[in-house]
Amino acid sequence: MKIGIIGSGIAGLSAAWLFNRAGHGVTLFEKHHTLGMDAHSMTFEQEGIALRTDVPPRIFNVTQWPNLLNLYRELGVACDPIDPSQSFSLLGQPNFLNVDVAYQPQLPEGLEITEQLNQIMNDVARFALGAPQDLADGLFVQKTLADYLQDHNYSQTFIYDFLYPILASTVCTCSYDCLNAYPAPVILQTLLNLFGSQPLLRTKYGTQDVVKRLSRGIDDIRYGTTVCAVNLTPDGVRVETTKGQADIFDHLIVATQANQAQNFLSNPSEAECNMLDAFNYEDVPVFVHQDPALMPVKYKDWAHINLIIAQDRSAAMCCVWMNRFNPDWQIDQPIIQTINPVIEPQPDTILAGYNLQRPVVNKQSLAGLELLKQLHQHADRRIWFCGSYAAEGVPLLESAVVSSLRVANRLSIQLPDTFLPDNI
Ligand SMILES: Cc1cc2nc3c(=O)[nH]c(=O)nc-3n(C[C@H](O)[C@H](O)[C@H](O)COP(=O)(O)OP(=O)(O)OC[C@H]3O[C@@H](n4cnc5c(N)ncnc54)[C@H](O)[C@@H]3O)c2cc1C
Repeated sequence: MKIGIIGSGIAGLSAAWLFNRAGHGVTLFEKHHTLGMDAHSMTFEQEGIALRTDVPPRIFNVTQWPNLLNLYRELGVACDPIDPSQSFSLLGQPNFLNVDVAYQPQLPEGLEITEQLNQIMNDVARFALGAPQDLADGLFVQKTLADYLQDHNYSQTFIYDFLYPILASTVCTCSYDCLNAYPAPVILQTLLNLFGSQPLLRTKYGTQDVVKRLSRGIDDIRYGTTVCAVNLTPDGVRVETTKGQADIFDHLIVATQANQAQNFLSNPSEAECNMLDAFNYEDVPVFVHQDPALMPVKYKDWAHINLIIAQDRSAAMCCVWMNRFNPDWQIDQPIIQTINPVIEPQPDTILAGYNLQRPVVNKQSLAGLELLKQLHQHADRRIWFCGSYAAEGVPLLESAVVSSLRVANRLSIQLPDTFLPDNI
């Protein structure tokens, strides 16, 4: 088969790898001049040394990301446990909590237990005991996270000094409004997968190594090429680019964000429009910088991952100390990556700034997934959709890989034995 793929994020790349491995001709379109998954990574010089950093720095574990890890094993991608230290503080104030073992709260050294810490620890223990049963009972399937937390009487301290900072600045990278509307079962399952004892991992040689392995052997990669029109014709799916090229494919895999796909589908069906409209996105600002004002006030309290909460507790940012994320860096000066900043770094400390996007997960997006499932069941389907938005759960590398495995499976592509059909 002749397969066209639009987008070379992890979804498009894993689809390309699966189809190429099965002997099909793959053409990959990417609007960036590098593979999309690695498009925001940057190379810079510090203290006379050339360094490369992933943007964003992506982490995973075996429980929440089983298919991603299978893929990385198939590809021979080396993975390393990360330093699990996390700190929690209000902006401009000393740390009130440190977490050293996968989201297990501990007292900061030398500090006395406070009412705030008592509440957090009690509610974390209550959550760890109650959430698995609540999930098994399925009584709150239709509830939002806000409703679930209210029904179970979780303290405001647990929610705004612990849970929401973790979710909004790391796991989901979204606003608190978006968190409130998240389907409760999605968050509960994700948290239980994270709260366990499985170490958090990173790829040892960065995203550049992953994309090299995924794209090996794919001869027709059109870099710097934006697809502007897609039409179904009697001969197949016709894809046009802004460079004036046109190609016809037996099947086309749309592996862009859902909101980007709407720009080039020329005559989408009503069902396709309804499906794509169900997925909204939020902007996620990210800075790579050297401003210590965004970090915990005392240098000795800096952890690998620092969650800094706005004074009015309406938002939280995550400041990753990249020197810890990359323990092989031989430099003295700190490099920090801040996601969803509650204050911006001083302009002269900024090495790079990006505006990324993340899909919003709510009742409407769950309905969108049902519509997608129905679309993909049509026997004569030629245009397929994958991406982190296109599978259940928090949109992560895992959901993106699952979505491309599903498309490959639907087109009868033999998957590596390590992928269990039940998991996709
Ligand atoms: C700040 C932040 C931190 C994150 N941290 C983690 C983490 O720790 N762990 C984790 O698992 N996930 C994490 N994620 C989520 C994860 O990065 C994404 O879910 C995943 O990368 C999305 O991949 P994708 O292939 O679905 O989409 P994308 O990566 O968005 O790929 C879509 C591609 O399509 C291309 N494209 C779009 N339109 C066109 C067009 N018309 N023509 C040609 N090309 C086009 C785009 O350039 C892009 O390369 C994080 C996300 C953010 C924002």
